[in-house]
Amino acid sequence: PPVVAVVGRPNVGKSTLVNRLIGRRAAVVQDTPGVTRDRVSYDAVWNGRQFVVVDTGGWAPDAQGMAAQIAEQAELAIAAADAVVFVVDTHVGVLDDDDAVVRVLRRSKKPVLLVANKVDDQRAEAEAAAMWNLGLGEPHPVSALTGRGSGDLLDAILDILPEAPREAVEEGGPRRVAIVGKPNVGKSSLLNKLANQQRSVVDNASGTTVDPVDELVEINGVVYRLIDTAGIRRRVKEASGHEFYASLRTQGAIERAEVCIVVIDASEPLSEQDLRILTNVEESGRALLIAFNKWDLTDEERRRYLDREIERDLVQFGWAGSVNMSALTGRHLDRLGPAIEEALAGWETRVPTGKLNAFFGRLVASHPHPVRGGKQPRILFGTQAQAGPPTFILFTSGRMDASYVRFVERRLREEFGFHGSPIHLSIRPRE
Ligand code: GDP
Repeated sequence: PPVVAVVGRPNVGKSTLVNRLIGRRAAVVQDTPGVTRDRVSYDAVWNGRQFVVVDTGGWAPDAQGMAAQIAEQAELAIAAADAVVFVVDTHVGVLDDDDAVVRVLRRSKKPVLLVANKVDDQRAEAEAAAMWNLGLGEPHPVSALTGRGSGDLLDAILDILPEAPREAVEEGGPRRVAIVGKPNVGKSSLLNKLANQQRSVVDNASGTTVDPVDELVEINGVVYRLIDTAGIRRRVKEASGHEFYASLRTQGAIERAEVCIVVIDASEPLSEQDLRILTNVEESGRALLIAFNKWDLTDEERRRYLDREIERDLVQFGWAGSVNMSALTGRHLDRLGPAIEEALAGWETRVPTGKLNAFFGRLVASHPHPVRGGKQPRILFGTQAQAGPPTFILFTSGRMDASYVRFVERRLREEFGFHGSPIHLSIRPRE
């Protein structure tokens, strides 16, 4: 789905607005400066259209060098977005810091929607109208706090979103691969290795336009589009809040990719951050390949311990493929290509409805749902709503226990594979 970034100075109400846009009523707004949030993007639906809202409100710059940092924040958010919502505080008016963002917005060719926030009365309405002079088109007066104007704003967002998601534009082009992982695990080393292997065939072979932040590389004779390599090559480490930028970019790269290579430093203990990135890939519904890098630095003891860590912390990603590799020595680099293809195949698996229901029929007969309150929930009918990732709708009589749903999911995998891909089950009970 297309990505909408919400940008603006600190305290203009970005987070409150994001909560409005995604329809989260009892939202906790944490605008603590310097706080890096785990999640920066959220799924939103309006009038049946899906889009992703990126919240840049989790980070606020230091007092010093504010304008420059806000501009940088905006620049990164804009790069990752298909459209931008620029928020200004109507009570305070337009400050120099806002102007810094406006300059970035003007330079970018992304569609922009100007939001005059905190419009709670007539006087504020007039001040909002004055923002026409920013040169960003019509100001949209809203009150993120009360929800005033948020419906109109959502309509306006849908209007400026690109018609087709950019994924569709590239249909048939090279598959989109993101290399993600926490800092220093070897992403850029891997990228360089892959880029060095590329032959001249790679340049625009299929006549596709390549985003300047992407690169085409050839792996095992197949051309792939590596997403946001600029983000890997250009390290944003100068500014404070760089972790926030990094997670924002990572999120953007995951959203744009079909398959993600999550690079993990095998010589170091698994960390929360590794798990967060893996979870992010799963929740985003992307195919996943885990690259345990720096294998050359592991000894027997470390490998034994890694096995235990995998058993303990990575069980929920048991469906993913993995490669034990070294970007330094080139060990098992040749296994990446086949593993990527396998993950994509799993991701795109389509099970015909007849086959699916024959399977459910056998499953219900051999392993019926336990009786609940004198009734026995049953799977009546199932269908695969989409592939990439495989998504199933199950019509059931009565509500099924979560544990039974997990059991069904496990059995689905045993039967049909989906190796390397998350799968999604949507249960529709018919009472
Ligand atoms: P990034 O931040 O994820 O892009 O990580 P880099 O690619 O910059 O790598 C961080 C450090 O790890 C650098 O000093 C690399 O030379 C080193 N490194 C990367 N991959 C390997 C590997 O497979 N083996 C070893 N021994 N070092 C590696």
